[in-house]
Amino acid sequence: MRKPVIAANWKMNGSAELCERFASTMVRPEYADVWLFPSSLHLAKLTELFRGSDVATGAQNVWTDVSGAYTGEISASMVARIHAELALVGHSERRATFGDSDAIVAKKFKIIMEAELIPVLCVGETLEERESEMAHLAVQRQLHAVEAAWDRSVYSHSVIAYEPVWAIGTGKAATAAIAQEMHALIREHVRMQGSGDADALRILYGGSVKPENARELIAESDIDGFLVGGASLDVDDFNRICESVKN
Ligand code: PEP
Repeated sequence: MRKPVIAANWKMNGSAELCERFASTMVRPEYADVWLFPSSLHLAKLTELFRGSDVATGAQNVWTDVSGAYTGEISASMVARIHAELALVGHSERRATFGDSDAIVAKKFKIIMEAELIPVLCVGETLEERESEMAHLAVQRQLHAVEAAWDRSVYSHSVIAYEPVWAIGTGKAATAAIAQEMHALIREHVRMQGSGDADALRILYGGSVKPENARELIAESDIDGFLVGGASLDVDDFNRICESVKN
């Protein structure tokens, strides 16, 4: 039985006040892991507010090196030193807007693992790839890139988030059937590659998750939780999404 994960990606939103609101009013369910990804600016504060609780925090992005002349960047080891435990890698906004190629994502994945953080590897196809029936290939290509860079058991200490690009921030979530099909494909890929314990691996769905569609999605056998963008900025909506994964 895989414990569900509900993760909040605040993107370039949030404030000190939002951190405090989450600390005082967010539900802390025993039946799910809750992970929060604020901006880099608020990561230390939010981590401190939740220190000693079961709620974990993480960075939305890190650079490919440990330290050095990389103005504006933060490293995985810095994230680990402030007691955050996770990092997103390969988010489609990073891939599309900031040029994070498969090769860069693989390097970031490696440096996150080396810092002993848990990577949440985001994969997903564009609308064009889906319409040309290339969704499976696109996701497999993204997975292969990471597997080639980390020859140990890639997915033993990591989580995958399937996030179709066409569903992110559009209000048009994937249907439960499409999401389940892609999650099952990812799990089968991991099984075939022998790149981790496929049955234990948690695969999250991301893309316009809301309190209204969370229950239907989580009912699918290979959907193990959510990476939530827009709806994670409202603590009441986020609480309702957390409640929807309760059995
Ligand atoms: C995301 O940014 O990871 C995401 C899933 O965004 P949204 O929920 O807003 O679609």
